[in-house]
Amino acid sequence: MTEHLMKILIVGDGYVGKSSFVHRYVNGQFNSMYKMTMGVEFSVKVLHWSDKEKVRLHLWDIAGQERFISMTRIYYKGALGCVVMFDVTSSSSFLNCLYWKRDLDDKVMLPNGDSIPCILLANKCDLSQRVVSADSIEKFSKDNGFIAWMETSVKENKNIGEAMRILVKEILSVQ
Ligand code: GDP
Repeated sequence: MTEHLMKILIVGDGYVGKSSFVHRYVNGQFNSMYKMTMGVEFSVKVLHWSDKEKVRLHLWDIAGQERFISMTRIYYKGALGCVVMFDVTSSSSFLNCLYWKRDLDDKVMLPNGDSIPCILLANKCDLSQRVVSADSIEKFSKDNGFIAWMETSVKENKNIGEAMRILVKEILSVQ
């Protein structure tokens, strides 16, 4: 049995649903969570990826952040993948994804210099008052080097596991 350990960052503006996403995703699994002094919540999820492979995810969720601030390098150190999340009812949370992605690419990269796999999640797609169109997300995702984007609803449990599987698959393929 091979076990892959992956540090994955969950970034995005405050209130977009990051903590809810992590709680939903790890629900029912072994989950240790505690507040770190630097304001990061850390959770663990184990995936039985195949007969021969296990994936242990260390999910780092920046907690209590209202808007974009550049994160310290310690937070990014050793990360193999990233989720950038925004709220489809908040255009500013969408615009700020640019800064989150740039900060990430400035501070962590693969040994060959490529950026680490990063998925863009358009959360709260259950809400009717959405202000960010699929076309603009598609363009933004392509222009900024995301591996994919997906609509999610943590509330309705839509695309949570799917999004993480896409990210993990990409991480395994670039290792
Ligand atoms: P964080 O600051 O990014 O960690 O955001 P939270 O996880 O604390 O979520 C902020 C608020 O959005 C909370 O009231 C959540 O219940 C709500 N929320 C999170 N995800 C969804 C979703 O998919 N749909 C809806 N309608 N509300 C959500």
